[in-house]
Amino acid sequence: MMDKSPAGRLVRGTSQDASVRVLAAVTTPCVEEARRRHDLWPTAAAAVGRALTAAALMAEDLKVPGAVVIRFRGDGPLGGLVAEGRRPERAGDPIEVRGYAHEPHVDLDLNARGKLDVGRAVGRGTLYVVRDEFTGEPYTGTAAIVTGEIGEDLAHYFLQSEQRRTAVALGVLVDPDGSVRAAGGAIVEVLPGAGEETVARLEDNIARLGGVSRFVDRGGDADAIAAAVLGDLGFRRLAERPVVFRCRCSRERLAAALVALGEAELDSMAREDGGAELRCRFCGAVYRFDVAELEALRADARRAGGGREG
Ligand SMILES: [Zn+2]
Repeated sequence: MMDKSPAGRLVRGTSQDASVRVLAAVTTPCVEEARRRHDLWPTAAAAVGRALTAAALMAEDLKVPGAVVIRFRGDGPLGGLVAEGRRPERAGDPIEVRGYAHEPHVDLDLNARGKLDVGRAVGRGTLYVVRDEFTGEPYTGTAAIVTGEIGEDLAHYFLQSEQRRTAVALGVLVDPDGSVRAAGGAIVEVLPGAGEETVARLEDNIARLGGVSRFVDRGGDADAIAAAVLGDLGFRRLAERPVVFRCRCSRERLAAALVALGEAELDSMAREDGGAELRCRFCGAVYRFDVAELEALRADARRAGGGREG
């Protein structure tokens, strides 16, 4: 579904001397799509948008087709958030992102720096990152949530869990009417052998961006973000891709989930509720099953259960 979503764009490359890897993206259409589908209020939109952007960048960072799931389990009012990025099989196909916050209606006062207070909305707790390259066991890493600002937490995660030195910049600009006006981000990784001064230089360059969402709002595209972050190290682009908000949920998958609930549950849904309405948490799509459909699924459940009648 949603094959016609407007696309953002992502680039991957290195500094001219190849001592630094960079991933950068403009994700405005994807984040606005998430906001609209989930009715995310501004602070929630910023949190989910930053996480979706990071998920897109980290999916591109996979060496092979696969998926990355970022899960923030914090004690803030969002009640946790999940973002997934999926790297497609074919070169040039879009990176797919989807995600949600448990509580979408979060709109807090701006923080001391005049920004959407994502840190407070997320709270403290644990960050989980799952990398699934669709071959063998998925890899799961965890780290404490240090600020709840998403970008800093991911940089801390990379260092602590994967021994990778990175700087992560993520931003979402929300218009007064609540829609997403600009969103984007970058992950830069200093490769082993590069000096500490390189890290400091990159952090300096990021600070000089003045916020990645403002940079995007002024017209900066993914290449411009990468170039600005690398500064005089110079940007060499190796790959680019569209980024779209897309969920792979379907009526068939949800029907299978219903069958798995078993006969008794399906029977009570049909008799007592007069049908079932399921909502996909990732994209907000609603699937309705009427009594006749539930009866058919109940027959499937009976067959799956070995024909026992209760
Ligand atoms: Zn869905």
